[in-house]
Amino acid sequence: MNESRETTAAEVDAYYAQLDREAEASGYHLNPDRETTWQLVRGLLVNKARYGYQACPCRLASGDKRQDLDIICPCDYRDPDLSDYGACYCSLYVDSDVREGKKAVRPVPERRPAQLATAQASETPTPEGGTSLWRCRVCGYLCARNAPPEVCPICKAKKERFEVLKLAVIARG
Ligand code: SF4
Repeated sequence: MNESRETTAAEVDAYYAQLDREAEASGYHLNPDRETTWQLVRGLLVNKARYGYQACPCRLASGDKRQDLDIICPCDYRDPDLSDYGACYCSLYVDSDVREGKKAVRPVPERRPAQLATAQASETPTPEGGTSLWRCRVCGYLCARNAPPEVCPICKAKKERFEVLKLAVIARG
């Protein structure tokens, strides 16, 4: 982690381009307001240097990754906010109507439960063996395997953002 080094404009430009590519490849869109988006991307890089992970630039991170898992960008709340409001809480990600200028970004209320702002343990359990059903908490992608994928193939969230679904076992007999 490096708090003292300034994030350069070139680094922001490069990360902006990367996020834009990844978003479009996955069916998501960055906010077309370039200045707003540039500042948010810069905020992600500043937080990554500060905490070691890209905490949401619009929320107060604790500095404890396990406690902040739900607000590592893209956060757990992006998809429901896109669905309900057409933008994520920060308006870094927007829906296609906003992207195409058919509607403006409107305020998005905080969806994060208040108690999570103060305490959250990692809920990514380690299975004892065998195949489990893993769910990406960011986009809902499901896969059955021994361990979660390193990166979600849909939204690019990292493996710590996956949870094991608890399935009811129906005894046959
Ligand atoms: S997706 Fe979530 S974490 Fe990322 S900028 Fe938007 S609100 Fe913040």
